[in-house]
Amino acid sequence: MFENLSEKLERSFKLLKGEGKITEINVAETLKEVRKALLDADVNYKIAKNFTDEVKKLALGANVLNAVKPGQMMIKIVHDELAKLMGGTMTDIDLKGTPSVILVAGLQGSGKTTFSGKLANHLKSKKGRQPLLVACDVYRPAAVEQLKVLGASIGVPVFFEEGSTDPIAIAKAAVAHAKSKGYNVVIVDTAGRLAVDEAMMKEVTKIKDAIKPQEILFVVDSMTGQDAVNTAKEFNDRLDFSGVVLTKLDGDTRGGAALSIRSIVDKPIKFVSAGEKMESLDVFHPERMADRILG
Ligand code: GDP
Repeated sequence: MFENLSEKLERSFKLLKGEGKITEINVAETLKEVRKALLDADVNYKIAKNFTDEVKKLALGANVLNAVKPGQMMIKIVHDELAKLMGGTMTDIDLKGTPSVILVAGLQGSGKTTFSGKLANHLKSKKGRQPLLVACDVYRPAAVEQLKVLGASIGVPVFFEEGSTDPIAIAKAAVAHAKSKGYNVVIVDTAGRLAVDEAMMKEVTKIKDAIKPQEILFVVDSMTGQDAVNTAKEFNDRLDFSGVVLTKLDGDTRGGAALSIRSIVDKPIKFVSAGEKMESLDVFHPERMADRILG
């Protein structure tokens, strides 16, 4: 991911690298290229413009033109601003409750079920937790089956109620079950639909009210570009989620969602997933992502 963006930025910085002195025209041209690279990566127009305006202001304020290594200084400013755009510092997942309840929401096909399995695996193997997975998609038996298969592959039990049509009751029963059996994290995988609709939002809001999760993680397919940002906004308006999970960063994504989502919904990206294997989940670090983008 981000290869295109990295290459494009690399090209625009060529102008600055290696030159002893740079001029205001060099800076303006570079920023024009940076803006273009961001737009090509599917970053929202306004965000790209604000970004380059801010970099310009900082560059002039830091007196880049008279610096000993003006190119390097400029690149550092862009790096720091990129990290800031993605939230600045890493935001850890909240695991304070007993059990801690994590609600996973998003559109169908975004990668919710896969992520639920990956998160259970991550919390079990890296944080020594005893997670319980909960299958709340009562509309698609295949989704329940998928979660059972994932759970079995990582050795995490899956709570489900055969034949039930009431996801709110399932979620409540699962939390009670976790309490009585000593599971300390409950990960609730909810039903999604192909587009945002009232019935889905009502249902997931009811589950939220019933089980009062510490974390509501909104899962979004990063390959959907600007749509990812719009969907995030709609879910956030209704659910007031606590974090974002970007999936499918291994695919042919231009990565703009990672750069735009934080500014639009003002919620941290907590995890990124790049692959179908249970191990391919990473905690999101804005600084590291900025390093990767700048190559
Ligand atoms: P859900 O409907 O939101 O629960 O989505 P699923 O978890 O069933 O995922 C939909 C499809 O995307 C499945 O084929 C997954 O294997 C695939 N998938 C999920 N996460 C990733 C990812 O990070 N990378 C790739 N390449 N595929 C993924």
